[in-house]
Amino acid sequence: MADNVLSAASKNYKTAKSIAKGGYVGSILYLTPEKQSGMGNLCPFASQGCKESCLFTAGRGVMAPVIKGRLRKTALWFKNKDLFFQTLFEELEALQRSALRTGKKAFVRLNGTSDINFGAFRPYQGKTVFEAFPDIQFYDYTKDIKKALENQVANYHLTFSRSESNMVDVMRALEAGINVAVVFRGKSLPKEFLGRKVLNGDKTDLRFEEGYQGAIVGLIAKGKARKDTSGFVVDPALTLLEKA
Ligand code: SF4
Repeated sequence: MADNVLSAASKNYKTAKSIAKGGYVGSILYLTPEKQSGMGNLCPFASQGCKESCLFTAGRGVMAPVIKGRLRKTALWFKNKDLFFQTLFEELEALQRSALRTGKKAFVRLNGTSDINFGAFRPYQGKTVFEAFPDIQFYDYTKDIKKALENQVANYHLTFSRSESNMVDVMRALEAGINVAVVFRGKSLPKEFLGRKVLNGDKTDLRFEEGYQGAIVGLIAKGKARKDTSGFVVDPALTLLEKA
């Protein structure tokens, strides 16, 4: 029996807000992003800017026990996938039971700080995690355009993530009606970006509630992202200048 791999979503500021409104129980999986664990790469499409601004550095993510806990789960992922998936299964079953007991809907974000293609794994008698738990709503952000464009799974919602180096993919996602997350500098979001309306992505993290609108999901830069100079964080003032 391994230690838990999932964290309660009520510990995350943004998902806690949605849980407090009622109607949900939820969990998030936080691993060590990109190659930072030294064991392998969990974000194959990471850019220089996103690596440096990663959510890994925001909020509770900077605390030593949190970093250690994420490394432990990442080691389990790389060294013993069978046990990883078995532990995940048990925790998802428990989450589903809790949702049934309380009459709430369960949600899970598996890539809290990673970009793994979980749909490529069939650890549950030939089923993916999404197929094994059809009553759980899964959601993620991704920089994997193929994963975003090919996703047909009803209980898995994907938001594409812009970086300083994936503009072609951003346009492909928007044209396909997929929402695109963009990080903006400052205190307020622009109303429009790339000719698309900007939704306030900080109101909640439950992206599946937005469905697919081909809209921009605006997020205000947090943690190290506030100091980004790579172009990963967009300056709303500059986008206004470009228009003028
Ligand atoms: S792809 Fe996402 S999780 Fe991975 S390093 Fe970039 S921002 Fe972090």
